[in-house]
Amino acid sequence: APVPTTRPIQQLPDQLISQIAAGEVVERPSAVVKELLENALDAGSTQITVRLEEGGVKRIAITDNGRGIAPEELPLALARHATSKIASLNDLENVGTLGFRGEALASIASVAAVRITSRTPNAAHAFEIVGSHEGTVAPSSGAFGTTIDVQDLYFNTPARRKFLKSEQTEYGHCAEIVRRIALSRPDVSFSLTHNGRTIDHWNVSEAAKRSAQILGNDFAEARLELEEGAGPLRLYGYVGLPTASKARADGQFFYVNGRYVRDKLLVHAVRAAYQDVLHGDRFPSYVLSLDLDPALVDVNVHPSKIEVRFRDSRAVHQFVFHAVQRTLAQTSATAHGSAPA
Ligand code: ADP
Ligand code: MG
Repeated sequence: APVPTTRPIQQLPDQLISQIAAGEVVERPSAVVKELLENALDAGSTQITVRLEEGGVKRIAITDNGRGIAPEELPLALARHATSKIASLNDLENVGTLGFRGEALASIASVAAVRITSRTPNAAHAFEIVGSHEGTVAPSSGAFGTTIDVQDLYFNTPARRKFLKSEQTEYGHCAEIVRRIALSRPDVSFSLTHNGRTIDHWNVSEAAKRSAQILGNDFAEARLELEEGAGPLRLYGYVGLPTASKARADGQFFYVNGRYVRDKLLVHAVRAAYQDVLHGDRFPSYVLSLDLDPALVDVNVHPSKIEVRFRDSRAVHQFVFHAVQRTLAQTSATAHGSAPA
């Protein structure tokens, strides 16, 4: 049973607050990869490299060619509740960036050794900051854009370190995040190295090519393109034919306003659309993006933002269900010869 305490109420120190928050934001190395990739995309980058060592536990270094961080803002980048992405409640309700909470870098810096090197387009050279928002900003060298280097995750929180799985497992989670994000942004080139070996490299390309590269030819050869709009809703991407279905649900990618989500309502809508063409024990494969007015969806439901809430969830469900069902129905009509030759 909990032991009663007679300690007085005290304000917690900043570092401890960040470490507590880090429990939600930085569950494992792949969560760091996600936050850093989202920041790189929010900065308008077109080229992103991800370097991992020892499953990301030893090191996660992400370099981008985005707009950079001005030297006087480097401490703020590592400060808690500091963001360049929203300034008001109204901005929060219309958020168009992947980040907005202003807590990822502060959380990461409270449980790992962080170095940010950045050069903005009008700076004569790069600057860097090491450690925390209290670190000093010093001149450095480097190309335009930003490198965020995160080393020795959980070095100061041994209890959390114990929860990490094997290097291979942690690496697998990191690679999955890179695939997930790369799939949604064929207009950006990505490369991924692990322990010095290049694992993946995707050049800027068409969505069709990027999804074939990441999901393989089996999916590329058995998918239908979808693009439908209705009022403020637009759905586009690819739905796999029943032959591209899987015994596991690992081929399902859904994005809402560019953000990967795992949403029961959306999964259900797609599943229901497959009902007539797919056995109950098989999982459809798909890459679908839903774009809508940011004011119609709340992404501020969970710190990792993997869950969203729609203002009109019934309308979204209906729209996704019908769009996918119509697409699948067209081909079964063609396959059975009812379409004109
Ligand atoms: P958030 O993304 O929610 O704003 P973060 O803690 O992830 O919070 O980042 C804090 C701030 O640091 C961002 O608002 C942004 O201004 C800046 N920043 C972080 N990463 C980058 C990057 N790769 N390029 C440019 N600016 C960045
Ligand atoms: Mg962020």
